[in-house]
Parts: sequence; C-alpha cells; structure tokens
Amino acid sequence: MGKSIVTIGGGIAGIEASGILAELGYAVSVIEKEPDFGGKLKNWDHLFPNMRKAEEIEDYLSRKGKTPGITLFPNTTIASFENIKSGFVLKSNHGVSYSAHAVIVATGFEVFSAERKEEYGYKIYDNVITSADLEKRLKSGTPLTTLAGKTPQRIAFIHCVGSRDAKVGNTYCSKVCCVTGVKQAIEVNKLLPATQIFNFYMDLRMHGLEHEEIYKTAQEKHNIQFIRGRLSEVSENIDHSLLIKAEDTLSGRPLKMNVDLVVLLVGMEPGVGTTAIGKACNIEFNQYGYLKIPDVHLAGNLTSRKGIFVAGSCSCPMSVKDTIEHARSAAFEVHRYLIEN
Ligand code: SF4
Repeated sequence: MGKSIVTIGGGIAGIEASGILAELGYAVSVIEKEPDFGGKLKNWDHLFPNMRKAEEIEDYLSRKGKTPGITLFPNTTIASFENIKSGFVLKSNHGVSYSAHAVIVATGFEVFSAERKEEYGYKIYDNVITSADLEKRLKSGTPLTTLAGKTPQRIAFIHCVGSRDAKVGNTYCSKVCCVTGVKQAIEVNKLLPATQIFNFYMDLRMHGLEHEEIYKTAQEKHNIQFIRGRLSEVSENIDHSLLIKAEDTLSGRPLKMNVDLVVLLVGMEPGVGTTAIGKACNIEFNQYGYLKIPDVHLAGNLTSRKGIFVAGSCSCPMSVKDTIEHARSAAFEVHRYLIEN
C-alpha cells in the first residue's frame, strides 16, 4: 500500500499488531530495545485460564514476526521523534532514520519492584520471592525448595504487592495477579501435595469467565486456604523460616504465622520505556503514568496525538489474552486511519 508504520516495542502487542498490518500490505518496522522479541512471555511457564504453555504463544509470535513486510530491529531505541507533513520521522540510537505514516507505541509494562516494600523482606530474606521468580523456577523444572534445599512445609502467597497501595503510589488494581496467585498455588500443590498453602488477599478479583472456577478448584481440589488479610511485615527466624504478621480483616484480629517460603504477587507498573517514548512523542499520560486513552469506550487504541496509537499494557494492566485482543484492535484502528489519511 506504500505506507509505512513504526511499532515501538516488540513484545506481544507490538508483534501481533505489526503482523496483522504487514498481512494487510503495510511496511512495518518494529523497534525493540532488547536483543530478542516477545517481551516478558519468555519468563512465563503456563498461562491462565487453560494452563497452556507460554511457549505456544511465543511460537505463534515468532511466526508472526516473520510475516513479509515486517522488519525487526533488536537492540534499538528511539533517540528522537519529529513531525513531518506525511507523518513522522524517528531516529534510532544507531543513527538510523525511519519514516512512518503512523506509529504504534507498544512498550509494555514493568513488574513492580518488590524491594520497594522493604517490610516484606524481598532481597533481604532468602526465602521471600516474587511471583515472577516463582514462575521462572516452575519453568526451569528445578525442585521447589527453600534456599537451604528443604521442601517447604508452608508457603504464603501475598496478593496486591505494589498495587492498590497508596504508599507506593499505585492505587489501581493490576488485574492479573489474583488469578496468577491462585494458578501458581495450584501448580505448587500439584508439585508438593503435602505442603500447606495460604493465600492472603484483600479481596479476590478473579476477572474472566472461567477464573471463578479456578478459585473453586483451588479450594476444593487443592486444599488452598484463603485468608482475607493484609500483610504488615515479614521477619526471619533463626532457622531462616519466616514469621509473617498480618491483620485478618474478616475477624479484625492480628495474625502471626510461620512459613518456609513467601511469594509476593507483584503487580504491573508503566515501564521507563513508556515514559520515555510518551515524552519524546509528546503524548499525554493518565494519572497512573500509563499512556492516556482519550475515550475508554470508543477509542481504546488512540492517544492524544493523531497518528500515534497504543497497543497493549502500556495503556493499563492486561493479561496476555487482553493484550492480544488490544493489539488486534490497534491494527484495525491504524488501518482505518491510513485509509482515511
Ligand atoms: S488482581 Fe488481585 S492481587 Fe492483583 S492488584 Fe487486583 S486485587 Fe490485588
């Protein structure tokens, strides 16, 4: 069609949207700061709700990234951004210029850095890990043990770490961590059936048609115990087990429990890449630092600047499934824009 598009970000959303647009005949340049493509998907083992292997989606995206018309640029960032009559000119850190009739920003999210909740002991106590760490361990297939190599007798999953928390500046819900926590608890129960598992939650937000079933299964088949309580502190005992202090918000009473492993269910945050690109392109952010959508019902892929579109979790927290759907709608919006302009 003689029109070109630059997609900034080669994760799930960037590759999916670019693949569709390349199939429609556009020339698409995908700019990715990392050496490889597919984003954080490579860190995931199984995906909810159906527990399919994340590799299946990786393979799909790998094929999509080879669609004729797509050119992938790894290890590349955008150094400057300029408006011209026909669209935009972007210059990379390698001094290469890309002209584009439309730009898609698909810079994804960052996992909340759990060190910021110092009272939870991440990177202070060896047996405090995050859900992202646990997923990597599950993927690697190595036995799930404490750092001393012992099978944990008790594991506590802590929901809402870095989300719904005014102290860290993130008052929003990250949407995916409740179901991730329940999914991981089930996976751990399958590996270690004798281990007691507790999920400490504020309230369970199991978005999605089948997610409530996962929660029921966790209780009925996997004996996972759900405690409505907010963690206040984790400390280490002399034997490196952990003492957790929480408030049971149903009974209103303080609660103490010794466990062998704590898993912090970390939420999503806008990435530094999103902030940098948003500023370079002079597009607006919302109050949480994600890219601002001008109309959440009718323009979910538009930004405050004509010709610049958004795909995926740089606009708000999203699951893998939602990210793919958002990327597809971004491709449609870009196509419509390029036909009309
Ligand atoms: S999805 Fe659940 S764990 Fe995540 S922020 Fe929302 S309520 Fe908390």
